[in-house]
Parts: sequence; structure tokens; C-alpha cells
Amino acid sequence: MSDQNPAADKSHKSDTKQGLSNPGASPTVGFVSLGCPKALVDSERILTQLKLDGYQVSPSYNGADVVVVNTCGFIDSAKQESLDAIGEAIAENGRVIVTGCMGKDESAIKAVHPSVLAVSGPQQYEEVVTAVHTYVPPPAKDQHNPFVDLVPPQGIKLTPRHYAYLKISEGCNHRCTFCIIPSLRGDLASRPVGQVLDEAERLVKSGVKELLVVSQDTSAYGVDIKYRTGFWQGRPVKSRMHEMCDAMSELGAWVRLHYVYPYPHVDHTIPLMAEGKILPYLDIPFQHASPSVLKNMKRPAHQEKTLDRIHRWREICPDITLRSTFIVGFPGETEDDFNMLLDWLDEAQLDRVGCFKYSPVEGAKANDIANPVPEEVQQERWERFMEKQQGISTAKLAQKVGKRMPVLIDEVDAEGAIGRTKGDAPEIDGLVYLNGEFNVKAGDIVDVDITHSDEYDLWGDVHRIQ
Ligand code: SF4
Repeated sequence: MSDQNPAADKSHKSDTKQGLSNPGASPTVGFVSLGCPKALVDSERILTQLKLDGYQVSPSYNGADVVVVNTCGFIDSAKQESLDAIGEAIAENGRVIVTGCMGKDESAIKAVHPSVLAVSGPQQYEEVVTAVHTYVPPPAKDQHNPFVDLVPPQGIKLTPRHYAYLKISEGCNHRCTFCIIPSLRGDLASRPVGQVLDEAERLVKSGVKELLVVSQDTSAYGVDIKYRTGFWQGRPVKSRMHEMCDAMSELGAWVRLHYVYPYPHVDHTIPLMAEGKILPYLDIPFQHASPSVLKNMKRPAHQEKTLDRIHRWREICPDITLRSTFIVGFPGETEDDFNMLLDWLDEAQLDRVGCFKYSPVEGAKANDIANPVPEEVQQERWERFMEKQQGISTAKLAQKVGKRMPVLIDEVDAEGAIGRTKGDAPEIDGLVYLNGEFNVKAGDIVDVDITHSDEYDLWGDVHRIQ
């Protein structure tokens, strides 16, 4: 989660359901993945490597020779969830390897769970894989051939097959005062653009219909490598958000940008949305509108005139969906600051918004800022914020009733199909309910006539040519 709001990203906890192709023949690993989409990408990479090394992935604790827990260490409640997950794995299996963000704090883990076999931090793929090799040796090479064995070329995916997170960089150069990500994950390190585009291409070839571009700061992509020119499909492409998106659009999948900051250069990417090359969607974590709060937060681009920028984006691409997250009750936030935020919301008319009460994170500089906001004031501001945004969201969704729009189907259950419009990211935004619709499957993109709306979701019918 780039923008450190606990609920901005839902936690993913899953014992993977990869089947055993030949139970008993190979060592097996259980996997529990917690945390944000970026952690999920880490899990996918670790699983891909283990599979290449000849391991099977166990669907249960019992069937596993060892269990890997990929943890989240962002806020205190996530740390507790991670510790609980480790405890559960120890109780159920006994042989547990810990990795991920909380792995940075090995002593905190060992203090509660001294029996864990090994601990490594985020993106330490090699360390996790080495630890698995140490405690459960891989099959001898003559038993396993990665070139012959069936490993999907796109890697093992924990998300549904039709969408995938694509991580374009690690770390972050900013130092927002409420965030400890830079100390956990280090400074920005962009992946080579050719590698990112190759991965995107493999994913699309394997059936992925929607690529969710994630990082801590997507708009900063390439800054650390001076926008170095890379190569993809034999031609030069610059390591810069705009050029990367333009190239990615050729793959024909939905491309959705998360964690973008309102820097001036973002304006150049909006025409790609207007032309239908990438989704008309920006996930842009504003966090506040009051200059003094933003300054206290040390937010990137906090001096930009964001309302002007939003108006300009809507001029270029009227259909753009803007999603954001906000923190209320940040230390030092006054009633005037908060009212400024409400006025800003009225003006900005954002489509999708998450709001969180500030909660201190161990090690964050914001803990030292004067005038913390009492809990009851935080709660009261949060309620006022939500009421304001619910009104905006309800009105915005009502404008969609009567329109026809493409919907990507996520699942079909007993009541019908459920999907998302181009304006809705999986897990964090709204849904489109197609009650009674069973003639579609996950991954289909169908035209839907929108018939009904509420504060968050839409209802509709598939448009079929008579
Ligand atoms: S320091 Fe700021 S920009 Fe960087 S990850 Fe944290 S919240 Fe995001």
C-alpha cells in the first residue's frame, strides 16, 4: 500500500490453492500472503521461484513440509495480524519461515514466536528461497527440470487469472512523516522498462485482461535511473511513466494506474486515457487539502494547485475516474484545516474516496508533531467527511444510470454475475451487479446497461444484440 492507509488496500490472506500434481513426489510449501498488492506481487515471485525449483505448493498447513508467511508491517494492527498468522502457522504446522515488511523487525517476531525458522525482509526473494532450501531441500536436479516441468510462463498468480498487479518499482524517495515505508523498503529503485513490459506481455498472453500498475510512487517511475532508455520488442522505450504506459497500451489489456502524485508531468499521460489507450482512472492519494497539514505530512507535490490540475484533467478526459485517500485528525489539524478539506471535496468532486483516522505508526516522525487530535474529534471529523463524500459518490453514480458501459466480470455466484467498470479497481472500488446473469464468466468484458445505483455500487443488465 503506497499511501499508508490501513484500509486503502484490503489484506490478502490466503493459503494458496495450487493443486498437487504429484503429491508425495516433491517437497511441499504452504504459503500465507498478507498485506498490500505489492506484497502480493512479492508472494507471486517467491512462489514462482519455488515452483521452478521443484516444490509443490500445499493447499493446507497439514500437507506442507514448511510454511512461508509473507507479513505486513505497516501499521500496528497489521503487525498484530502478521503475528497472529505466524502463530496460527506454528500451531498448525510447526515449521515456519517469515518474510515481508514485518521481517525487518526480526527481534519483535522472535520475541513472540521464538520457534520461527528464519526471518527475512521485503523483496528478499533469495533469502526466503534459500531458507526454504535449507529447511526443506529441493528435489535433486535429475528429478526436476524447470524447462520440462509445467510452470506457467507468467508465474504463479494469487490474484484471479484475469487481473494482475504489476510492480514497476520498489521503495520511495519521499519522507512523508506518517510513513515508515522508506525505512522498510529503501529509496526508489525502478525496474528496467523492458523487464516491466516483458512481464506485462507474458501476463496478457496468459489471459490477464487487466494490469494494475503499482509502486509506492508510480509518477516517479524512472527518476532514479534518469529515465534510462530500455528496449522492448526491439525498439527503444524510455523508463518514464508516460512512455511505459503508451507501450503497455499496445497489449490490448486494461491498464490501471495506482499511486500517482499530482506532478505536472502527469498531465501528459491524461491524453492516453482520453484516447482509450489506458483506463481513464487515476488513483492519486491526496491525503489532505490544507497546505499546513500537507506541509506537516511532508507530502510529495504538496505545493501543486491540485484543484486546477483536476479541472484540467477533466477537460482533457471528461470520463476520468479519480480515486483518492485521505487522513483526518492528523496531528495539528485544526477545525479550519478540516473545513478546508470539506470545501475542497465539494470542489474536487472525486469519484472514489477512502478516509482514515490518523493512527500513529511506531517509528514515524508524525508522532512528534504537536497538538494531536483527540480521538472523539477524529471520529466526529471522519463521520462528517464520510457523509460529505457519500453524497458526492451517490450523485456521481446516479449519473451513470441509463448509460451503457463495458464491465469486466470478476465472478459469477448463485445470484448472478459481478463485475467492474473501467472506473472501479478490484478490491477497493465499487461493483456492478448483474443479477440473474449466468451466461458470462470471470474475465469476460461485456457491455452493460446501467439501471440502478446506490452510494457505492451499480446494477445493470448485459446488452445483447437482438
Ligand atoms: S513516504 Fe510518502 S510517498 Fe513514499 S511510500 Fe510513504 S506515504 Fe507514499
